[in-house]
Amino acid sequence: MFDVLKLQKQLVAAACPSGSEYKAISPLLADLAKPFVDEVYTDAMGNLICHKKGNGKKVMLCAHMDAIGLMVTSVGDDGAVWFTNVGGLRPVQMIGARVRFENGLQGIVRLREEGKNLGLRTGALSLSQLYVDIGALSGEQARSMVKVGDVAIFAGEPREVGGGNIMGPYADDLIGCVVLLLAMEQSQNTPNDVYYVFSVQEEVGCRGSKTAAFAIAPDLGIAVDVTGTGDVPTGKVPMDVKLGAGPTIKIKDGSVICSHEANALLEKAAEKAGILCQREILLAGGTDTSSIQMAGNGAIATCVSVPTRHIHSPAETFNRGDVEQAGKLLSALLAEAL
Ligand SMILES: [Zn+2]
Repeated sequence: MFDVLKLQKQLVAAACPSGSEYKAISPLLADLAKPFVDEVYTDAMGNLICHKKGNGKKVMLCAHMDAIGLMVTSVGDDGAVWFTNVGGLRPVQMIGARVRFENGLQGIVRLREEGKNLGLRTGALSLSQLYVDIGALSGEQARSMVKVGDVAIFAGEPREVGGGNIMGPYADDLIGCVVLLLAMEQSQNTPNDVYYVFSVQEEVGCRGSKTAAFAIAPDLGIAVDVTGTGDVPTGKVPMDVKLGAGPTIKIKDGSVICSHEANALLEKAAEKAGILCQREILLAGGTDTSSIQMAGNGAIATCVSVPTRHIHSPAETFNRGDVEQAGKLLSALLAEAL
């Protein structure tokens, strides 16, 4: 049986920003999935598709394997490394973050000082005010260490914190990939024709899932991703989701209104298996759900989410039990002839 924390540590160590999935995370997921499916292949976009053949309905489960990250735009003569975002980086959450380049080089994100006492300012920050210090003493030295176009991710690994919760970078969406692996491990006898898709480039606009869903043309599509919670201090409209109260069944986010038929199937499977779920309305943000729903002639689609605090920060926090229950929920659904 897969262990959630062990598996997540393994995936986070191989995390790749959008567009670089083929370098580490895709081969790792292919190795992990192979024992549970009939064929594993990669499409032109780079999506990793793991097919468990069956005579029943075509079901596509999809978790994105790409991560947000930094891409080097320029190296200054003082050795400062300037960067742009790959996906949704939040400037305030970046200051002081430790980052890791593909060659293993680490650095720290710093705020450019623009006058006395401005270092503590946090309002209206933009990414252009941030740079990475890689410890170089000159531009020449820095350019021998990183090049324009190199990418970096948040350094650090998931660790257990209080309340059965796990904190670290890249719950979004490597924990969704963990859920897919749990589901395939527990769905060896499914009567359905199941495609487990580890999609690319979700963080830059749900791009990979578009072509994967078009090619597969599923009868039912379910994205698995993280969602925000309402259990942290916030000035925003309250959200009725919390850690440890079970996976969520999405009703709506910024990109999709989920198919009621899909949610009815999930609710029925949850009730039958005795799995506690939460109802999710995510006010902003999007998921692969929307591209699955609108691919080709369209598909019945929804999303199962893992409640996660501090999304897109280096300290994303989720509950181990929610992840395990999400895997159980999907395998309970796949156990039925849909
Ligand atoms: Zn995500």
